[in-house]
Amino acid sequence: MASVGLGRSGVVVQETDDVLVIGAGIAGLSVAAALSETCRVTVLERETSPGNHASGRAAALFRRLHPQPTVRLLTEASLPFLSDRHEEVDGAPLVNFRGLLLLARGDQMDLLDRVERDPRASGILQRLDASALARLVPQLRPGYAASALLEDDACDINVPRLMTLFRRRLAARAGRLVCGAGVSALRYQGGAWLAETGAGVFRAPVLVNAAGAWADGLARLAGITPIGLTARRRTLLEVRLAGAERLRSLPMIADLDLHFYFKPEAGRFLISPADETPARPGNALPEDLDVTLCLDRIRACFDFDILETRRVWAGLRSYAPDGMPVLGFDAAHPGFYWLAGQGAAGIQTAPSVAGLAAAEITGAALPPELDGLSGQRNALLPGRFAEASPFS
Ligand SMILES: Cc1cc2nc3c(=O)[nH]c(=O)nc-3n(C[C@H](O)[C@H](O)[C@H](O)COP(=O)(O)OP(=O)(O)OC[C@H]3O[C@@H](n4cnc5c(N)ncnc54)[C@H](O)[C@@H]3O)c2cc1C
Repeated sequence: MASVGLGRSGVVVQETDDVLVIGAGIAGLSVAAALSETCRVTVLERETSPGNHASGRAAALFRRLHPQPTVRLLTEASLPFLSDRHEEVDGAPLVNFRGLLLLARGDQMDLLDRVERDPRASGILQRLDASALARLVPQLRPGYAASALLEDDACDINVPRLMTLFRRRLAARAGRLVCGAGVSALRYQGGAWLAETGAGVFRAPVLVNAAGAWADGLARLAGITPIGLTARRRTLLEVRLAGAERLRSLPMIADLDLHFYFKPEAGRFLISPADETPARPGNALPEDLDVTLCLDRIRACFDFDILETRRVWAGLRSYAPDGMPVLGFDAAHPGFYWLAGQGAAGIQTAPSVAGLAAAEITGAALPPELDGLSGQRNALLPGRFAEASPFS
């Protein structure tokens, strides 16, 4: 049961939970919602509301093609949840078909051939010649693209709705979300983690590090060796386009080398220079140069009349040194569970990753959609970096 008492430093410990989750982005909320079925859970978030960082700044697409088989498996395993209708959001859909078109200029045809022949793309990508492409996207500048690959079943993910679903599920099961509760100190004492925040001290035997770009910093607070995560900034512009009605049903369109993309989404139009600039964890801000590059690249490719730039923002995507997510208990510190480094796939993998983490934390069986994971499980463990180190 929840209790109130004094921590070692004499501060009042507000509650005792089974699990504390640090960070209320998609990772923290999804795992908290999954855990709340059987555990007392509190999510601690530094900001005054959830989803203020990567999760609230993404232009989220669900796509099956991913270079890493494990991420692909986590993606496929999330699809049943994302395709389902959930009562917490009145059965409204979480995904809708969009399609993803990868454009190749004449000088990118070798790359297009390689991508198309890659066995991982088999059954996912379909090649379009220049005339089929011009019919699908008449707004392309004549002669810009020689060919394209279409990932037909790529979907938009409604991120605000997905976040609402996890929040409501957590609340309905008496889980708590405490905002304005940045964790400033962490220590392990008497078999439990104590997290000091501006909203009080919280205690639980298990702590989930879902702090996004700050996950390494949070580990340092606990005296735990960081993974070596790097955050990379990506810029997005919301633009107003002439003839918007005709453009709403276009697929997401990206350059094959990913130098820009265009995405109609929920009645608005997003464009990005697909930048990946290393950045420090923090409130990512767009840079003028990226905005200019973005507009130039979009104008070179499309015959769009951009009437106005309505909003510009940037978000951070976090990567481990090998680009794979970091999921699992820290081998050297009891009860410290890593849920970090989701890179560019943290939204589309959130349901299955949450299911995996919740099962491991509670000792339950893995959900059946993760049956295929067993041989690949070690590739996600935080200990893989320590093992690879010649100094370990
Ligand atoms: C422009 C852009 C486009 C993207 N497109 C896609 C896409 O198409 N598909 C896809 O699947 N993914 C996409 N992503 C990636 C996806 O957004 C991320 O992988 C995902 O949001 C990461 O979620 P998170 O919860 O780990 O991080 P965050 O959403 O950043 O949440 C971390 C939270 O932890 C909190 N926190 C940090 N430190 C503390 C502390 N000490 N105490 C308390 N709270 C703390 C932060 O305030 C923050 O709210 C995109 C990302 C960006 C930026």
